[in-house]
Amino acid sequence: MTETFTGSFTQQEPIPEEAIEAAMAVLRHGRLHRYNVVPGELGETALLELEFAAQMGAKYCLAVSSGGYALATALRAVGVEPGDPVLTNAFTLAPVPGAIASVGARPIFVGVTESLTLDLDDLEAKLDQAKVLMLSHMRGHLCDMDRLMQMCDAAGVIVIEDCAHTMGAAWRGQLSGRQGAIGCYSCQTYKHVNSGEGGLLITDDEELAAKATMLSGSYMLYERHLAAPGPEVFERIKYTTPNVSGRMDNLRAAILRPQLRDLDRQVQRWNERYDEIAAGLRGTPGLTIVERPEEETYVGSSIQFLLLDWSPERIAEVIRRCAARGVELKWFGGAEPSGFTSRYDSWRYADSVPMPASDRILAGIMDMRVPLTFSLEDCRLIARIIRSEVGAVYQS
Ligand SMILES: *Cc1c(COP(=O)(O)O)cnc(C)c1O
Repeated sequence: MTETFTGSFTQQEPIPEEAIEAAMAVLRHGRLHRYNVVPGELGETALLELEFAAQMGAKYCLAVSSGGYALATALRAVGVEPGDPVLTNAFTLAPVPGAIASVGARPIFVGVTESLTLDLDDLEAKLDQAKVLMLSHMRGHLCDMDRLMQMCDAAGVIVIEDCAHTMGAAWRGQLSGRQGAIGCYSCQTYKHVNSGEGGLLITDDEELAAKATMLSGSYMLYERHLAAPGPEVFERIKYTTPNVSGRMDNLRAAILRPQLRDLDRQVQRWNERYDEIAAGLRGTPGLTIVERPEEETYVGSSIQFLLLDWSPERIAEVIRRCAARGVELKWFGGAEPSGFTSRYDSWRYADSVPMPASDRILAGIMDMRVPLTFSLEDCRLIARIIRSEVGAVYQS
């Protein structure tokens, strides 16, 4: 009997009842704008920031309209100007080079290793070319953060972390987003908390926090923030920091607060599913599992494996055969950008130099979402399907 999977790779769990109730309360009073509060009221957005800062052990937090907006705001806050070079990953999602382009800066792409992390030797070689690194923990894989921070600190390179897939992850016990100067998170439906769209930015630096807050469109209402620096810091920057509106609203903040309280439990559930799939795939001939370093606490909201040195035709055949059995694999190596996958050389608004070693890896990266609506049995079934179809093409 040929097994097929009938679940959906894009179906997340419903919004928790508690979050729905909080959202209804906001809808009923109608004060959706974050600065629309009655005397003595603490708005949902300000409370979200206070709680996320505490959860991450950060001094300051700002909630914004999207993860990509948080990244662009971070770049502006650290002083990136039009024409400036910014180091970033060759293997990442389009909003990352997009954020760099949005401030008129120029990405300098750094290669990817077989662990799907930033190639730190390549970074070392390029470190003198820029003052800022936008480090994308793409698909939740953390590079050796100790070595990376040592290198960047020594070179005076500011690190902005893209934690879209590492909310809840950690390196040697330190939460992801706490190593660099600024950590940015996405609250978009396919990430680790779901408000449709949304972003969070954290930092311990008072001036960066004040600038980011002004940039996000606080007008002169920054005193209504609960996780922002004092007014004296805003006094120093308020005349010279433009308003680039991209605020979070109280409705989305209300939806997010209960979800963030539940993050640890959700991470555990993602990892049960991830580990089940990884166990089912391990040892498949021709397929390379991306093993996770001991120092890394990951969040298995998606899984990647490599079909290294396979021809594009054979990879396409695996994708086709898996799809026929209900298993949706994404391929970051495709020549044409498709869905949410694209390659550094697809972003033609930015110059890039060919990176043969990274091209070899990109060409073999297979990616699959692991929504929490999958049961553990679903995960075992999916692994069996991939294993048999990879095996069939490998042997043909
Ligand atoms: C989703 C994502 C972003 C951007 O987040 P949005 O909230 O969609 O703007 C940035 N980087 C990575 C790696 C992502 O996956």
